[in-house]
Amino acid sequence: MTQATAPLIDPFARAISYLRVSVTDRCDFRCVYCMAENMTFLPKADLLTLEELDRMCSAFVRMGVEKLRITGGEPLVRKGIMTFFRAMSRHLDSGALKELTLTTNGSQLAKYATELAECGVRRINVSLDTLDPDKFARITRWGRLPQVLDGIAAAQAAGLRVKINAVALKGFNEDEQFSITDWCAQNGHDLTWIEVMPMGDLGNENRLDQYWSLKDLRARYAERFALTDLTERSGGPARYVRIEETGQKIGFITPLTHNFCESCNRVRLTCTGELYMCLGQEDMADLRAPLRSSVGDAALEAAIRTAISHKPKGHDFDYSRTGVTGKMTRHMSHTGG
Ligand code: SAM
Ligand code: SF4
Repeated sequence: MTQATAPLIDPFARAISYLRVSVTDRCDFRCVYCMAENMTFLPKADLLTLEELDRMCSAFVRMGVEKLRITGGEPLVRKGIMTFFRAMSRHLDSGALKELTLTTNGSQLAKYATELAECGVRRINVSLDTLDPDKFARITRWGRLPQVLDGIAAAQAAGLRVKINAVALKGFNEDEQFSITDWCAQNGHDLTWIEVMPMGDLGNENRLDQYWSLKDLRARYAERFALTDLTERSGGPARYVRIEETGQKIGFITPLTHNFCESCNRVRLTCTGELYMCLGQEDMADLRAPLRSSVGDAALEAAIRTAISHKPKGHDFDYSRTGVTGKMTRHMSHTGG
């Protein structure tokens, strides 16, 4: 077992136990709310190598991180990514890490599900906004629905629990609220709806047109079902309800409504080694320089502590009727969603 050091506590007495790591900014899809069609990706030399990602994550684990979520871009398109998962599984074996998981678009799951399960991954999030093949091709630009459905089936066959994340998009999947919910119930998936966030410059996509309030979505469920609010938080920003008629758990992630900052236990590491203390703030710390400056991890650990001491209280997103303020200039694929 690796030597633990003092846990990370931020200025608002929140213990940092959850690290989300973006392992690549690349993706085999081009979801319209996430990326422009012609993205310029980072030069390879800027990316942390797999060995550097290992050092970085292992430092956080030593400092009390118990949950590691691998994301991107699309994490499963990073070359050699299974080497990294295998390396991280040693922290599960030691007991230092309680959960190793990922968020994926599902396109590569048919290939990797078994290996992920062998690495100790138990639950995964798969992003899926529609069950209509044509709409799927439209929203992801490059994705194909059957490939993702095969991937989800492979994940289940490998024993992984699959949670579906759907971005709520006005005029796009409003009409599928109940069909997606039913499909999830039939296949044993939990379902979480995500409010669309103002991220990046996506050219002609108008974010206010895409915004579908989860309050509205919840009200529609309430018209049809008896809902019970659940108090559990799973360490994340989702609020949950149970549909009493089916027993299904539905999550709502409403990052725009400041309802979870006070319990925020997470930080985000980009594929270039920038640590974002808050998804909704520009403030970040470069951890790549201290990582590369020496073979030992003392400088890295000091930089992590300094960064955590700057974690802000909350974020500034706000949709008003006339515009979007607190808008972030970076893409979700950069900070890893
Ligand atoms: N490629 C993987 C995937 O799609 O699951 C992981 C990275 S993706 C950036 C992580 C999550 O962010 C996905 O569930 C995606 O739907 C969500 N996302 C991307 N852009 C978003 C936006 N502008 N607002 C809300 N969610 C967004
Ligand atoms: Fe790729 Fe995920 Fe962004 Fe879609 S949401 S473009 S799958 S990174």
